[in-house]
Amino acid sequence: MKAVLFEHFREPPSIRNVPDPTPSTDGVVIKVEATGLCRSDWHGWMGHDADIVLPHVPGHELAGTVQAIGRQVTQWRVGDRVTVPFVGGCGHCHECNSGNHQVCEQQFQPGFTAWGSFAEYVAVDYADTNLVRLPDSLDFVTAASLGCRFVTSFRAIVDQAKVLPGEWVAVHGCGGVGLSAIMIATAMGANVIAIDITEEKLAFARELGAVATVNGAQQDVVAAVREITKGGAHVSLDALGHPSTCFNSIANLRRRGRHVQVGLMLGEHATPQIPMDKVIAHELHIIGSHGMQAFRYKALMDMLETGKLAPQKLIGKRISLEEAPVALMQMDRFDGLGISVIDRF
Ligand SMILES: [Zn+2]
Ligand SMILES: [Zn+2]
Repeated sequence: MKAVLFEHFREPPSIRNVPDPTPSTDGVVIKVEATGLCRSDWHGWMGHDADIVLPHVPGHELAGTVQAIGRQVTQWRVGDRVTVPFVGGCGHCHECNSGNHQVCEQQFQPGFTAWGSFAEYVAVDYADTNLVRLPDSLDFVTAASLGCRFVTSFRAIVDQAKVLPGEWVAVHGCGGVGLSAIMIATAMGANVIAIDITEEKLAFARELGAVATVNGAQQDVVAAVREITKGGAHVSLDALGHPSTCFNSIANLRRRGRHVQVGLMLGEHATPQIPMDKVIAHELHIIGSHGMQAFRYKALMDMLETGKLAPQKLIGKRISLEEAPVALMQMDRFDGLGISVIDRF
């Protein structure tokens, strides 16, 4: 099969012919029909992820059809249209048994713990626990675009922050995670403030439902959010993953407010400064959010079918596998609106 492969971190990946994958006993092989490009892939290529063993094929936001099945798999058949969360739980550890597959101790992550979906085929372990059936109405490109940023934002807003109608939600960073969070929080009835440093992204955020915007390149973000909300946001997300957005997201909360860290903090950003004095005095909540369990896709799919959420609005460029190596190396530049998806292989 064709795949995007790199043999060394920070050196250009290339298109290569590699052996077709075979399923593990509890896994499947999926024919990839669409796969999203994500900043996490860039982090992986940079060498920021300890799970990656070289040579490596990236890609974790995939949708496709089941092509081959391991002998222990009971729930899936060849030809089923599926997607998977980017964190696959083993299905039998303490965390999985408590319903928290997203923090499984033996998690399977395509494109990190194994070769990923920037390829014609990808092998996925723990299939019965993690595959998600696609409704006929959901196309592969939209399904792939849910894979990481959209479901992560869904869990952050709905399950972790437990956003209530009428609350103020500040979203720091209007990339894929941030725009998804703006759409989801708006659908939950919250009043969303979008924060970014480019006017183009802020304008897009308003189209998706943000009722106010703050340009961090021109304004004091914390003062502006406090002014708009008359005292601070109830919920705030660092959707970018940077020490300054993390700090602002905590500092712009009202008393008892909830900060959710969604953007990855890796490399030299892993230990940011936070205003711990405010965390104590104002009883702030600091919450992490990491992917979403496969069984929670049902709630997300229900909101798609009612039309409350329209993730297809977040799809930016559609590219071919041949274009993926260059696109991957540029994922840290934050240019372009929405999520890029590979849909030709
Ligand atoms: Zn587990
Ligand atoms: Zn991703």
